[in-house]
Amino acid sequence: MSGSRVLVLNSGSSSVKYQLIDMRGGSRLAVGLVERIGEGGGSRVKHTPADGESREWTGPVPDHDAALKAMAAELDRDGLGLDSPELAAIGHRVVHGGLRFTEPTVIDDAVLAEIERLIPVAPLHNPANLTGIRTAQSLRPDLPQVAVFDTAFHTTMPESAARYAIDVETADAHRIRRYGFHGTSHAYVSRETARLLGRAPEDVNVIVLHLGNGASASAVRGGRCVDTSMGLTPLEGLVMGTRSGDMDPAVIFHLMRVGGMSADEIDTLLNKRSGLTGLCGDNDMREIRRRVDAGDERAALAFDIYIHRLKKYIGAYYAVLGRVDAVAFTAGVGENSAPVREAALAGLEGLGLAVDSGLNAVRGDAARLISPADARVAVAVVPTDEEMEIATQSYALVNEECNPLLT
Ligand code: AMP
Repeated sequence: MSGSRVLVLNSGSSSVKYQLIDMRGGSRLAVGLVERIGEGGGSRVKHTPADGESREWTGPVPDHDAALKAMAAELDRDGLGLDSPELAAIGHRVVHGGLRFTEPTVIDDAVLAEIERLIPVAPLHNPANLTGIRTAQSLRPDLPQVAVFDTAFHTTMPESAARYAIDVETADAHRIRRYGFHGTSHAYVSRETARLLGRAPEDVNVIVLHLGNGASASAVRGGRCVDTSMGLTPLEGLVMGTRSGDMDPAVIFHLMRVGGMSADEIDTLLNKRSGLTGLCGDNDMREIRRRVDAGDERAALAFDIYIHRLKKYIGAYYAVLGRVDAVAFTAGVGENSAPVREAALAGLEGLGLAVDSGLNAVRGDAARLISPADARVAVAVVPTDEEMEIATQSYALVNEECNPLLT
């Protein structure tokens, strides 16, 4: 195989994000986004080639087929068309791979059928991912298409972490267990943290805090995930932008029996109207910090609840791992919010955890340490790069021999 480019597709229900990456050197040739798909004339396309100006337009993009054709037309304009022999593979983000997919997988009919079979445990994500795959297949039927699963990195969790303490037969009949998500990010960030420390991933124990609009923590021992905070769905765990995270499950029965709410209404409440949004009306950490600094009590309480939960997970994963070499912050909040990082680790000096306030305040795009030089445990900010990880895994799978980024 001669091509060295991988097109990475992240297909959501109403959007497609894409990046074309040249694996010889790992440069991004183009990045883009088609959003508000199927929303009449209001769809938006934004395309940025590596060596040119961004192009942006709005107009009707009725479905994913039209979205990928719009993407293909934009790539064509830059001489990067999908028909290029340089294209080696298309890598797809697939949210739920269940227990079967522990590795990136070349997509065939059986793989498609299994992703479809998992729709009941990922009703929002897997259908959109499938649509993206099928559309990409129709555009380049000859090209290997690779699925990279958000759940795959977490399949190494032991049963003691993955099982809920409910009746085993009922759990197994409905495939109820903790799967975890954001796995591509946790894999990438834990490896990059080891690299930052100058050590092999196998020798390093890391707590990864992926704090974006969705948020999850994971405990990674020697490069393998041993626990993570999201569960059957992305609802469990940390306080997020709009999701509640952990809660007594009896709240749901109470809302049904006493509040007269339906299952769908509670689903929407917990996934869309909870978390920071539910607590203070904002889900953007920048705005919440602005309000806290201006003396807003609701925003201050929301921030405190967010930090309290985060701290509990740091402590829990410290205990799970026994020895911790590094805590790594990543994603929109983790990479950018110095107050969140400082508050999350405040008072944990007894665990060897501390943040150097000068280093913490420095902004930057590179992975960096923010702990004092003599700290027992390293604290790092590591920008995540899920697209590069998907491209790297896809390329490695279709062309193991000559991937310069895998060495
Ligand atoms: P993500 O889901 O990783 O794209 O993260 C999105 C979230 O990151 C936003 O909702 C904000 O809360 C947060 N965020 C982005 N930029 C900043 C910033 N400069 N400071 C604090 N939070 C930020």
